[in-house]
Amino acid sequence: VQAPIVTVDGPSGAGKGTICQLLSKHLGWHLLDSGAIYRVLALAAIHHDIELTNEEALTLMAAHLDVQFLTRDDNGIKVVLEGEDVTTTIRSQECSDAASKVAALPRVREALLRRQRAFNAMPGLVADGRDMGTVVFPQAPAKIFLTASAEERAQRRYNQLQDKGFDVKINRLLAEIIERDERDINRSASPLVPADDALVIDTSGVCIDDVLALVLEHVNKKI
Ligand code: C5P
Repeated sequence: VQAPIVTVDGPSGAGKGTICQLLSKHLGWHLLDSGAIYRVLALAAIHHDIELTNEEALTLMAAHLDVQFLTRDDNGIKVVLEGEDVTTTIRSQECSDAASKVAALPRVREALLRRQRAFNAMPGLVADGRDMGTVVFPQAPAKIFLTASAEERAQRRYNQLQDKGFDVKINRLLAEIIERDERDINRSASPLVPADDALVIDTSGVCIDDVLALVLEHVNKKI
């Protein structure tokens, strides 16, 4: 029996993380934060002094990455790399930037496919990323694509990072978001596009509760 899957894709800061956490809690399903996998790989590369363009070494590392994703009581996820809690570290600007670089390498993406698909288990899976509905779980019955204006996404990231104690400048965040979007959209391997059968939701100016209601309505219709 295949477990049901909801895929939630979109650019950074569109609200995927929050929506996916609420959704997985509401449904009682597993959660895959695929961005965290790219972030962890990027951090491991930095730790081990591997160039972010060295596709061969990064692919090998992706296949053998010693990472654990542990569900916390609040349904958040604790990320452990080589025994070290890196939950907060992987959210830094350096890791964001490095993650989007390693994520552009086709063989690295290929090497991470199996690890991502292993999250698909009963009673179901909520998968958060850029290519969940197009490449990793194309068979998923319910697909969502969340977007929002770059300005609004920069503002949300700013608030999030401030809450986590990172000192950041909003203009720099906006520039980085635009740069990362461009890299995600224009790469040849699994570019960021909505799946043909995805429901596209623009979350600009829409509160989380309303977005969640729209998502749930779609999920209930499809699953
Ligand atoms: O979602 P998050 O911002 O944590 O992802 C970090 C980076 O990982 C993104 O900028 C993107 O380049 C990459 N990514 C990806 N495919 C995914 C998830 C994330 O390429 N499914």
